[in-house]
Amino acid sequence: MLLLDGKAVANHLRESLKTRVEAFQRQAGRAPHLTVVLVGDDKASQVYVRNKHFACKKAGIESSEHSLPGTISQEELEETLRALNSDDGVDGILVQLPLPKGLKPERVLELLRSDKDADGLTYSSLGYLWAGRPIVKPCTPSGVMRILEHYEIPVAGRRAVVVGRSNIVGKPMAHLLSEADATVTLCHSKTKDMRSYTREADIVVVAAGKARLLGREDFKKDAVVIDVGMHGTGSGELCGDVRFEELEGHVAAATPVPGGVGPMTIACLLENTVTLAEKRFSSRKR
Ligand code: NAP
Repeated sequence: MLLLDGKAVANHLRESLKTRVEAFQRQAGRAPHLTVVLVGDDKASQVYVRNKHFACKKAGIESSEHSLPGTISQEELEETLRALNSDDGVDGILVQLPLPKGLKPERVLELLRSDKDADGLTYSSLGYLWAGRPIVKPCTPSGVMRILEHYEIPVAGRRAVVVGRSNIVGKPMAHLLSEADATVTLCHSKTKDMRSYTREADIVVVAAGKARLLGREDFKKDAVVIDVGMHGTGSGELCGDVRFEELEGHVAAATPVPGGVGPMTIACLLENTVTLAEKRFSSRKR
């Protein structure tokens, strides 16, 4: 079984970004700039945001943070987003989700400018993606496609199954696979006899958010398995939606958790920030 090493692919992508960051710096006189909006004091969100700042720093991307108290009103949050939308020194904005109870994530997704949407998840960004004219692509599905490309896994003409239909992962994942000419089936919690679909698939992307949901018997021999799931096990370790240890000797290739899709999500966030910076800069020159 080929181990699809997301960490290595992410390093590769980050290295390739360095040249673009340097070129941008030369032309614009400053680094691309990502700003993160963090509301409340959720510990997991704080760790994710810290990792994102660290990754930006390593790539030469400027990162800043707007830490807002969990008691902030919807109006105040929207005011902050409007100010960032019109701040010329900000290229990419990321609002760390989930938001504390009482705040409406859908308003964030309506309000953020798509040309500053580093996650590629606002309603208008998804609209552009669906129309085949993406500004940037959602980070996690984009990271999965990068892994497939890096390992030269053929997608066109193959059967792909995506398990999970969230706006963040499943739906855009199915869309990107379809754009790459796979024939795609999207499964979800109401799918009957899901195994009958996954066992027919050449490529299975699992994003159900259910720890260790699928194992050997759910995949056909020589399938490619991409595990998006991420769960703490209680003993301080991480596991995915797939029982990885069952796959050896059965599937052709699989991503581990950790070290699979996770590092790619952050690398694609950096790439999106650089792309947004380049696009805004070149549109201003015209
Ligand atoms: P989500 O919003 O909870 O969506 C889960 C989807 O899976 C839903 O569409 C749900 O179906 C479906 N589902 C749930 N149980 C199922 C089952 N037993 N069989 C088939 N489908 C089932 O989750 P998400 O935001 O997409 O995230 C999914 C997982 O990916 C989570 O573990 C999350 O932590 C992880 N994640 C990882 C990264 C990364 O960087 N590695 C990034 C994002 C997310 P219904 O629509 O019918 O409810």
